[in-house]
Amino acid sequence: MDESTIKQPEEASPILESNPNIPKELLASRSISCYCQYCEIIYLDRTIYQLHMGLHNVNNPWQCNACGKVCENRLEFSSHVLHY
Ligand SMILES: [Zn+2]
Ligand SMILES: [Zn+2]
Repeated sequence: MDESTIKQPEEASPILESNPNIPKELLASRSISCYCQYCEIIYLDRTIYQLHMGLHNVNNPWQCNACGKVCENRLEFSSHVLHY
């Protein structure tokens, strides 16, 4: 008796949801307190983070507190404060 059994391949459909953009709720849930919302930079060292936040002027976040330089945007400021 030759009975050929046709095996159907199991359709494996792994559901992989990859989110390239990290939602800000997730950042908050992870309790990342060293996050500069102006520069959108996460600092791993809290001391460096506090130093960095000290450079943001209260009235103008793009003005450097160290030298008084007023930057145009986030990129200019973040690249400027990298020198400190
Ligand atoms: Zn910043
Ligand atoms: Zn400066």
